[in-house]
Amino acid sequence: PEPVVPELVVDGLTVRFAGLTALDEVGFTVAPGSLHALIGPNGAGKSTCFNVLSGVYRATAGSVRFGDAELTSLAPHRIAALGVARTFQNIALSGRLSTAANLMLGRHRLTRTGFLSAGLRLPAGRREERRHRARVREIAEFVGVDEHLDTPAGALPYGVQKRVELARALCLEPRILLLDEPVAGMNGAERRAMAATLRRVRAGLGLSILLVEHDMDMVARLADEVTVLDFGKRIASGPPAAIQRDPEVIRAYLGT
Ligand code: ADP
Ligand code: MG
Repeated sequence: PEPVVPELVVDGLTVRFAGLTALDEVGFTVAPGSLHALIGPNGAGKSTCFNVLSGVYRATAGSVRFGDAELTSLAPHRIAALGVARTFQNIALSGRLSTAANLMLGRHRLTRTGFLSAGLRLPAGRREERRHRARVREIAEFVGVDEHLDTPAGALPYGVQKRVELARALCLEPRILLLDEPVAGMNGAERRAMAATLRRVRAGLGLSILLVEHDMDMVARLADEVTVLDFGKRIASGPPAAIQRDPEVIRAYLGT
């Protein structure tokens, strides 16, 4: 049977930096297998939320439950091991390494024998490395970056690098994918291609996606459910059609 993806329940999440409340008792639930969008103006607290969910920042208060696990007390590698993968708002690939090498690094936490034994040419390590290389190729094909596997990531066009980042996150075989502005800085054609890829990822891999996005049209086309943040507070949540009509959301976006 298909593994069931647990829901992600964020409750009362508060993050304070010196003199600034970046998140103020924020709550929302990402339903299993759904695409949930987290939107809001610049500085609303979206990236901060991702940083707490992935263990990079500590919460001041509140909880994040993923199935049986409480994520707010776990280190980043423990959270990743639970199947929570993320991408960053700014590209975080190793520019001098090939796409394939970047994707292999993305599989690192899945290796049992480790790349050291592969390097030592131990048979078990070699077998495992072959298995990982095959899966990396599959994921690269799925995301449409397989023709770039041998190219240094830093030499690829920006839009392709964003797709490689998505592929790298998928290399973790995640149960939930946290994507921070995956189409930021892309042109119209790149945006449409990424939206199509995200639809395919979600339908094909059966995982949940939490998407931080600035582009309301993209969100309306992709999301099942939307949570809107403004100045660290949740100001609305619901299906995209309702969110687009919500007066408080419109006010926040128009900045009045
Ligand atoms: P968004 O991603 O929605 O644009 P962020 O989560 O990046 O917003 O930022 C929310 C607020 O928290 C901003 O005012 C930002 O300056 C502040 N902030 C984010 N990270 C830190 C940090 N490490 N230290 C201090 N302030 C921070
Ligand atoms: Mg941000």
